[in-house]
Amino acid sequence: MTPSRSEPLTCETALERLDAAWLDPLPEEPVDADLLAAREHLQECSACWVKWEASRAADQRIAEVMQSVSVPTSLREQLLTQTVADATRVGHERKLHRRAWWVSVTAMLLVSFAGGSWLWQALQPRRVSMQLLCDQTPLTSVELTKVSDLSELPPLPATWSRVKGLRVPEPPCWFTPPKTRDAVGWFIFELKTGRAPAIRGVLLVIRQANVSDPPAELIARPSWSGYTQRGGKPASVAGWSERGVVYLCFVPGEPAALESVLRATAPTSA
Ligand SMILES: [Zn+2]
Repeated sequence: MTPSRSEPLTCETALERLDAAWLDPLPEEPVDADLLAAREHLQECSACWVKWEASRAADQRIAEVMQSVSVPTSLREQLLTQTVADATRVGHERKLHRRAWWVSVTAMLLVSFAGGSWLWQALQPRRVSMQLLCDQTPLTSVELTKVSDLSELPPLPATWSRVKGLRVPEPPCWFTPPKTRDAVGWFIFELKTGRAPAIRGVLLVIRQANVSDPPAELIARPSWSGYTQRGGKPASVAGWSERGVVYLCFVPGEPAALESVLRATAPTSA
């Protein structure tokens, strides 16, 4: 039964009609009299207006969530085909509501990938590579956040607290590598041995689970070594794992200074 213009829609009918229409109508979708009447009802009935806005906001949130997750191309194509099919059906039969469509798409996403690696990976924290840490770690604390709760930091290497002449002259900081969520502990250290000038460097402390390619466990000496530059000046880097934590030790200059630090802090010498 199609209500005539003189016969106002009930709230329920108006909302049903609006819900069955697309937010952006298909080119061939006719805007018929009862859809127009439903829209008019919305302008005049504040109760329906509030409900309608709330449901639009909910749809928008679902859309944003779906857009923020990267979907493999093959699935995107599959979804597109499905969407066109649904849209055609809605256009002709006006039975499948937009809400039902969203629910079916979301359910399909979850069902298709619940057992696969894609969803699992999408939910994992982003892990960083040793090379990225080597390239991106700042060697001054200028733009870093000071650590306010020291208990949140992973521990320093086991031998470091036992080495004479090794100290941490500044409060530790947090460094958040690009494209990651989790902050990494960042320490300045200073090693003074004998009469030689003190060696200053940076020690990065990060949980092993957050590193995509953690180096081997430290036995005698670090298994990972690298080289980087800051402001045109070289820095030597060594990396190792210890009890679930990855350490990267940066010492500006040629590898000799870094070697002195590694010798002083090696498990065999401490
Ligand atoms: Zn109403």
